[in-house]
Amino acid sequence: MALALATLEAPRSVSVLGATGSVGRSTLDLVARTPERYRVEALTAHRDVEGLAAAALRHRARFAAIGEPAGYRRLKDLLAGSGIEVAAGADALIEAAARPAQWVMAAIVGAAGLKPTLTAVRRAALVALATKECLVCAGALLMAEVARSGAVLLPVDSEHNAIFQALRGEAADSVERLILTASGGPFRCRPLAEMARVTPGEAVAHPNWSMGAKISVDSATMMNKGLELIEAFHLFGLAQDRIEILVHPESIVHSLVAFQDGSVLAQLGQPDMRIPIAYTLGWPERIAAPTPRLDLAAIGRLTFEAPDHARFPALALAGQALRRAGSAPTVLNAANEVAVAAFLAGRIGFLQVAAVVEAVLQSCDCQAADSLDDVLEVDAEARRRAGELVAGKAPLRSGMA
Ligand code: NDP
Repeated sequence: MALALATLEAPRSVSVLGATGSVGRSTLDLVARTPERYRVEALTAHRDVEGLAAAALRHRARFAAIGEPAGYRRLKDLLAGSGIEVAAGADALIEAAARPAQWVMAAIVGAAGLKPTLTAVRRAALVALATKECLVCAGALLMAEVARSGAVLLPVDSEHNAIFQALRGEAADSVERLILTASGGPFRCRPLAEMARVTPGEAVAHPNWSMGAKISVDSATMMNKGLELIEAFHLFGLAQDRIEILVHPESIVHSLVAFQDGSVLAQLGQPDMRIPIAYTLGWPERIAAPTPRLDLAAIGRLTFEAPDHARFPALALAGQALRRAGSAPTVLNAANEVAVAAFLAGRIGFLQVAAVVEAVLQSCDCQAADSLDDVLEVDAEARRRAGELVAGKAPLRSGMA
């Protein structure tokens, strides 16, 4: 409680890991609307030096870190005379997370965000977690660090944020089920035969949400919902068979909690990430956000359907990995990251993304990985195996090719 009260002091110091991405930019958009409430400590990017420098200057950050070492010189030039400290490389991302911001947005895409996120958790920050891959590849480890340090993990993913809101003030043992909604992505109604030929351009064109390329492809394969199942399992501590997936194409109901008395609470809103981000940025208070307002009469009807596991095998793969436990979710996540990157680069077809993940999962013994080093080792090995499949050096199941 002392932590929560301390965080109400204004201005709140904030750092944004992944500041040049979709979630990072939405976060800074909110920060810029009430600059008197926030002070920006650190911002990071991977390669987008220009975007990082512009954001650091606009938001008067104290520290800017670029993950790609080759970007250092250019970043230093762009920020010369500003007084903003500059650093580059993997350690610089960790340093950004270690700097004394009360609130940290973890929005680096993929397992690359794990070490910086763990760094912020270990110093007991308020951590707004967008990078779901952290919980998929190292869920037990991350949650143990949260419990040990006293950090507060604030879910940014709209579904988990909805559940977090619905659970507020409720007793944990009164919860019966969690229901994660899924838009179904751009290929929800696409016949399987046509899905084999879809392009990266079609896959990233999400019908409701504007997001980075990787999560957009995850949404198209529905691996995103599989990752979110694992994320919910770790965040909310419910057994896997009490977390359901419900396709809801309008993306208005962001998820639901069913209680033991038969009540079901949901959080609704327009599909705009600034709504869940604002909830975490102001937490434990609600802050005003310039988001489109919900007009249910204009929307008219909301629809729901069961997921189609035949056309979206990634969802079942994630469920199997969670059930198998050990390091299976780490393997799933790493193989998926490699397969999605290969699909975006035009090296494999859309249906091969799930096929690569399945093949890598089958080839691994998935022994438990308890320490960070173990997790990183499993992650690296799964990436190596997925890389071989993508390069055609190992066979894929023919039906999925
Ligand atoms: P983007 O691809 O738009 O942005 C990713 C950010 O991470 C960029 O700042 C990028 O820098 C940085 N980055 C990329 N690779 C690395 C790396 N190897 N090391 C360090 N930094 C890196 O992603 P999103 O904002 O869409 O998603 C971020 C995370 O949030 C993902 O985990 C996603 O699943 C999750 N999320 C996203 C939602 C959304 O609406 N976008 C919704 C819910 C969750 P650079 O620009 O220089 O490449």
